[in-house]
Amino acid sequence: MIEQNQIVPSETKSEAIPETMEMAVSKPYLSIVIPLYNEEGNVEPLYKELTQALEQIGHTYEVIAINDGSRDRTYEKLQEVFEHDARWRVIGFRRNFGQTAAMTAGFDAARGDVVVTIDADLQNNPLDIPKLLEKLDEGYDIVSGWRQNRKENYIKRRIPSMVANGLISRLTGVELHDYGCTLKVYRSEVAKNTELYGELHRFIPALASWMGVKVAEVPVGDRARTYGQSKYGMGRIFRVILDLITVTFLLKYATKPMHFFGTIGFIMGSVGSAILGGLAFERIFLSQPIGDRPIMMLGILLIILAVQMVSVGLIAEVVMRNYYNPQGKPTYMVRHQLDVVEEKKLIAKQQREA
Ligand code: UDP
Ligand code: MG
Repeated sequence: MIEQNQIVPSETKSEAIPETMEMAVSKPYLSIVIPLYNEEGNVEPLYKELTQALEQIGHTYEVIAINDGSRDRTYEKLQEVFEHDARWRVIGFRRNFGQTAAMTAGFDAARGDVVVTIDADLQNNPLDIPKLLEKLDEGYDIVSGWRQNRKENYIKRRIPSMVANGLISRLTGVELHDYGCTLKVYRSEVAKNTELYGELHRFIPALASWMGVKVAEVPVGDRARTYGQSKYGMGRIFRVILDLITVTFLLKYATKPMHFFGTIGFIMGSVGSAILGGLAFERIFLSQPIGDRPIMMLGILLIILAVQMVSVGLIAEVVMRNYYNPQGKPTYMVRHQLDVVEEKKLIAKQQREA
């Protein structure tokens, strides 16, 4: 998906404010991840608002701006910001890979303990960030913004969004009022371990739930877009529905696909067998002709489908084994560990390194 994380080095860094140069090398507390696609008009106001808000918060920070193959002057604008403030790190994609890929590149590059995602179009207010961070400190792993007083079109945006949020909450079991709000804060290990592809960035809280994360919501403001246009149209509604099917399957059955396909196959097989068994009984013991009975077709169809379902389940099991093992992808994540053996290993490792 992402060919290579090529961070193009800038020629002149001398312009940057010297104090930001020092801050830029040490590991920050916050990593702000911002995807940008054709947002040239937003870069400057975003820089101003964000810097002001972040300096008020007082934590050390870095900003990772991902230029997602913009066709306008977004990259040049980001370069200007970078030359002025070294806390900004700019990643330029070779082409438009989409918001999910951009966010993934940001998560991969993030060095902070806490990752913040925010839209470039200033629809989110950076002054809401401290509220989310406060909530995170109460012991949550993801805190999501919940936009109040939405400024968008009712029919095109808000009703589909309400339906989507209800469906996603029900099906994935992670209840949120506003999945669509990009303004979110995450503990770094959560952001880095949520495998994203396609357009699944909308489902991060649900997808991360396999790790056993605690998710909270905090009301945030919503503002209208001033510069540029939205990148999504009505087509998003159908893509979200299809993605929802994928996510629900991934969450519930990815580690046990046979349970899903097998159950359907088992039910179909049982009904099919009962039908054919009944017909066989009539033919053999009651000597009734069964050749003109349409229900026989149904019985045969159900049994063929049942065999196929079980086969698909078996293939899915093999595919999943290949998916998890070669990549060393864990099927679980540990929060605490009380284990003398592990402790000894750790101490030995530390001694060796010292
Ligand atoms: N975005 C991106 N790549 C894309 C589409 C969008 O990086 O292919 C960025 C965009 O620049 C913005 C954010 O993702 O910062 C959200 O996009 P947009 O504002 O168009 O979505 P909406 O607010 O309309 O849901
Ligand atoms: Mg927007």
